[in-house]
Amino acid sequence: MTAVGRAHLKTGLALMLGVTRTDRLIRLMSGTRRLPLVVGYHRVVDDGRQRRASIIAPMLVSRRMFERQLDWIGRRFRFVALDELGAQLESGDPFETPTAAITFDDGYRDMYEHAYPVLKRKGIPAAVFVVTDWIDRASALYHDRLYLLLTRDWPASCEVLVDLGVMTAEQALAARGPNEPFVALRHLLTSLSQEGLARVTAALEAKLAVDTGRLEGLKPLSWAMLAEMQRGGITVGSHTRTHALLTRESPSRMLEETAGARRALEERLGTPIDHFAYPDGAFDAETVETVARAGYRFAYTTCHHRDRRHPLLTIPRCVLWENSCLDPAGRFSAAVASCVTSGIFHFASGCRHRHGVAPRPASLLVLR
Ligand SMILES: [Zn+2]
Ligand SMILES: [Zn+2]
Repeated sequence: MTAVGRAHLKTGLALMLGVTRTDRLIRLMSGTRRLPLVVGYHRVVDDGRQRRASIIAPMLVSRRMFERQLDWIGRRFRFVALDELGAQLESGDPFETPTAAITFDDGYRDMYEHAYPVLKRKGIPAAVFVVTDWIDRASALYHDRLYLLLTRDWPASCEVLVDLGVMTAEQALAARGPNEPFVALRHLLTSLSQEGLARVTAALEAKLAVDTGRLEGLKPLSWAMLAEMQRGGITVGSHTRTHALLTRESPSRMLEETAGARRALEERLGTPIDHFAYPDGAFDAETVETVARAGYRFAYTTCHHRDRRHPLLTIPRCVLWENSCLDPAGRFSAAVASCVTSGIFHFASGCRHRHGVAPRPASLLVLR
């Protein structure tokens, strides 16, 4: 189904359910909410910034919309910290009242600047899953660097991708639509290991100068910010060492990305690290086993699929961003918000991951 078709289906479904005021039906369709609602955010920016095209849109929410979504959730759910949520899931006791937890992935600095003050003022517990090698660093993550490079000069980027063998000359000729840089970004991120991404990024950066102004705002948290937020009640979890998509990495690399990140956080923060979020929500049987071996008790995905042998290591999440709860006229819609948070849209749009055991690339680079 096309993106436009999906949008119409979603809106139609939401409006139909909204018009008939069938909140209970929504819960029934989503299998009643035996599971708590775990919300995933990435970046929270000041209110004017979300219109800037230099940022990957589905990772952004403005501070105003963030508050709006929190207020809507807060009227319907009881907010809990991840430790409480995990303990109850572990006990097997049902959630008698609708329960929600707020989480952030990656550990962008704007989480400290814009989200943390709102959460503190409202008294809402939350968690942040950080990329440990990135904390305190000056450089941006690969997905942000690649997005800036690919959107800066797409024809020149194409040439580099053809030279590297990640794109054929025919594909490059055909890829002339406005959405192609984003399509290419998704392809690179989901098919290459971290080593492959490093090579592609270096080749693109050698050919195209990065606009350093656009890198502003793509900074990570510092250890001091993380410690301060932890003292303020924020749970710190891990999101690997380098934001590696574990399904693309070798077994030894997977273990280092998961166990190494946990070790680094425990040494630095002095507390047990029990929670993990899969980068891009990508997991398969092998990655889940590795996350278990690395010592995590709870791990979170970005869809509603689960590993039956490790349900606590495949806890579903609902990822929200600026436009998640808007109707076609761009207004906040309770009907759309209900559908999004109840997981109904997963029935409509499915999941782009393959959670079966994915064959690891024979060469970790998938490059010539
Ligand atoms: Zn991430
Ligand atoms: Zn899935």
